[in-house]
Amino acid sequence: MQLIWFRQDLRIQDHAALWYATQTDSCIAVVVLSPEQWAIHHDAPVKIDFYLRQLHSLKEQLQQLNIPLIIQQVPLWKDIPQALLNLSTAHAVQTIHANIELGVNELKRDSEVQNLLQQHEKSLKLYQDRTLFPIGSIRNKSQHPYQVFGAFKKACYEALGISLPQCYPRPIAQAPINLMIDSKVPKLAELWSNTLDADFETQWPVGEDYALQRLDDFIKNKVSYYHNERDFPHSQGTSQISAYLNIGMLSIRQCIQALFSAQQGHFLPENLGQQTWLDELLWREFYQHILYDFPQVSKHLPFKASTQYIQWRDAPEDLAAWQQGRTGIPIVDAGMRQLLATGWMHNRVRMITAMFLCKNLLIDWRLGEQWFMQHLIDGDLAANNGGWQWCASTGTDAVPYFRIFNPISQSQKFDANGDYIRKWVPELAHLDAKSIHEPFAKNANLKLNYPHPIVDLKSSRQRAIEAFKGI
Ligand code: FAD
Repeated sequence: MQLIWFRQDLRIQDHAALWYATQTDSCIAVVVLSPEQWAIHHDAPVKIDFYLRQLHSLKEQLQQLNIPLIIQQVPLWKDIPQALLNLSTAHAVQTIHANIELGVNELKRDSEVQNLLQQHEKSLKLYQDRTLFPIGSIRNKSQHPYQVFGAFKKACYEALGISLPQCYPRPIAQAPINLMIDSKVPKLAELWSNTLDADFETQWPVGEDYALQRLDDFIKNKVSYYHNERDFPHSQGTSQISAYLNIGMLSIRQCIQALFSAQQGHFLPENLGQQTWLDELLWREFYQHILYDFPQVSKHLPFKASTQYIQWRDAPEDLAAWQQGRTGIPIVDAGMRQLLATGWMHNRVRMITAMFLCKNLLIDWRLGEQWFMQHLIDGDLAANNGGWQWCASTGTDAVPYFRIFNPISQSQKFDANGDYIRKWVPELAHLDAKSIHEPFAKNANLKLNYPHPIVDLKSSRQRAIEAFKGI
């Protein structure tokens, strides 16, 4: 008997580990839920709820393949090796198959599982599935990992020019197995004290078919305009598939195949929309490879060691104002409120809000990284850490420390009519397109149910530059 262990890969199509597990023998499946570990990793309730809803759908899909899904629950990952050994002993399993995960704790967990299984003449087989290219395969001439996105991207383009990563076929149904186990998929409230205020089912539907449909719609109707539309938070110009990619409801190969098949398998550089979207997928790829090659980034350390010595401000009131969207900078508050209301924030606004926190407020990027993780439906260690360290100028290929976004100019440029602000900061909805970005600029005594800016943008910019110069 083979056992497929699902983790951040809740789908049955184009799934490396599932494909190999089903090729030789009968197969059963397991998912291990670890609520205390989620809390340690600051996983957002909206993300866990999304995961559990998709688990329900996965169970039904697996039933069609006659693969029973066992749901185990242990508090922490350290409890997983014994749980999996017990399970594999009970069902005469020889090999457990899983897709590799790249964080330090994930790798440690898997090596502990491997060690315990080996002691009992069983094994864990890991497959490269989360990235487009195997970890360790994109190297510079000296066989070192790339640290700059441009060079990494070029190497990826060359590899894609040689061959496109192919999708694994959907496994065929096996003969029915009678396990006499019926694992029920729990609801969030049954597992965790962290609950949800709103109902996210309509906003973030689940199901592999739905996720593929969402990808297909984007490729058919939007990708050609992506390069023009993607920076404007009020237009729905991006794919909004990050949550689906993150829990593996979609695979990265499916995204690439969809992108290229829209061009009969060729990549036409004049299609700027397609090329720009490919580049974004490669940013995801880049940060996944960085996470593996430079494990310090999963240990709360900056990529650039010297930035460890920056004197961040201890300013809990400013942090709370940022978290709740009460900074008095409308575009920042709009983004932070979008995050709380939907579990998602537009990329341009992620950059603006993150840079405002670690530059204008000079608050440690790690506090922002944690807050995002606690609220994002697409919270992903590699991308979130990469994004934060880019904005904080502490990361690989990060923005230079003196290039600090001015949130007002960003707002005027990317939300020119103020529609995004109007949606998320309704107390400013009556203001015209000029004054909405900076309501008190012309009249400091204007009566509004909205705070004055908690920081002066000019002097705080200078303060950040001095703090970085100091190291
Ligand atoms: P699209 O614009 O349609 O892009 C397609 C896909 O490419 C995305 O779904 C995502 O998988 C990938 N992608 C796009 N931009 C980036 C990027 N800059 N870095 C890495 N991958 C990218 N993305 C996450 O998936 N999880 C996170 O936790 C996360 N945290 C972030 C934190 C900060 C401070 C910043 C600046 C960015 C963060 N991002 C994160 C990257 C990016 O904001 C989101 O991937 C994007 O907004 C998701 O929307 P989309 O699916 O519509 O993206």
